[in-house]
Amino acid sequence: MIPNLKEMTGNAMSFTEKVTTRWDDRLVGSKACLECGDYLLECFDQFCDTTRMHKFSVRPGAFLGFMKIAVVFYFLALIALWVKFLGLAVILGTIPIFVTVFQFFYYKDFISFLYPEKEGQNVVGTIEPVDEVKQQIIVSAHHDSAHIFNFLDKDPENFPRKMQIANISSFGIAIIAWLLWIGQLIGFSMTIPSYLAAGIFTLLSYNVGQLWFFYDKKGTPGAGDNMICTALAMEVGKYFSQQKIAGNGLKNTRIVVASWDAEEAGLRGARAYIKKYLSELKAVKTYNFNLECMYDHKELGFLTSDLNSFVSLSESMVEDCLAVCKSLGHPIKKVPFPFLAGGTDAAEFAKVGIEATTLAAMNWVNKEGKPAYHTPRDTIEAVDAIAVSRCIEVGISYILRKEAFLR
Ligand SMILES: [Zn+2]
Repeated sequence: MIPNLKEMTGNAMSFTEKVTTRWDDRLVGSKACLECGDYLLECFDQFCDTTRMHKFSVRPGAFLGFMKIAVVFYFLALIALWVKFLGLAVILGTIPIFVTVFQFFYYKDFISFLYPEKEGQNVVGTIEPVDEVKQQIIVSAHHDSAHIFNFLDKDPENFPRKMQIANISSFGIAIIAWLLWIGQLIGFSMTIPSYLAAGIFTLLSYNVGQLWFFYDKKGTPGAGDNMICTALAMEVGKYFSQQKIAGNGLKNTRIVVASWDAEEAGLRGARAYIKKYLSELKAVKTYNFNLECMYDHKELGFLTSDLNSFVSLSESMVEDCLAVCKSLGHPIKKVPFPFLAGGTDAAEFAKVGIEATTLAAMNWVNKEGKPAYHTPRDTIEAVDAIAVSRCIEVGISYILRKEAFLR
């Protein structure tokens, strides 16, 4: 159906290899990430009708910073248990729960003010339809890369177990501190239970302490997550731009190609863009077709929920996308986002009532073998070209379907 699909896939792969080799660590706010954003703007200028560089401020340290806060407060709560200051143990044990829930479960700016400010930049381009704009489809990805997750890099087999023990211990010390404190208030002698609890949490402290080393200072090359998706979105944009030049432009659908920054700092790039341009996004019916993690075509799936599954994505958009996949003969599924797996930029759109979904080619839970996700192994070799090819095809076909619906 798309005659030069192979060439487009090849372009996306070679573009990704070039960019992720030149800027092989693109943490938000770093020189490399800013330079990469400048370069993307130049590339967007070559095929888009209009382009925009949206600069915003972000405090990236806050996103994973909750882990170090959890470690410090755990050990302070443990000392409080040993010396039987149970009220103090309650406070020290509960603070990191609030920080974790707000900062990580819901991606709120709870402790952000504690961290230094950096500059982020979103790169956005549009391909205008030939007639009046009746809808717009944002094909998006992100170009910043993640901190290396040391657990996933060095010991992926034990990653889920280590995280579970650390989480249970962190939450557990708060719950037990509350129970002991309430028992003491009622008038029970809590001496033996306190020492017993302190002993158990001392044994578990090694696992919690390891969270201090959860992530590395360095960033990943971020080829599969997520430069390939920016490249893929560009190919979709280029396709419609070329069609327009050839006289076959879309009549009423505006294509927006977006490469967000600061996704790995808690979706802050997409959030800042939506905040600034909300009225523009609401002025016309908007859909967000977001792309993430192109590692394995067998895992291709559309997300029906996001942000640790606290945010629902558009079921009707997913159904439309699945109908497209079926017509193309691609076995792509729909998947709810697992709790504790984080979030994608689509969540920010869904939160303001814009229909959105994310298409990803990765198992969000199972990290067996040697995963590339959030490790130095995330180079072009980790990217699955079949997944890329299918996503380009699905992206283009989805847009054509939405355009046809307007007739
Ligand atoms: Zn990503």
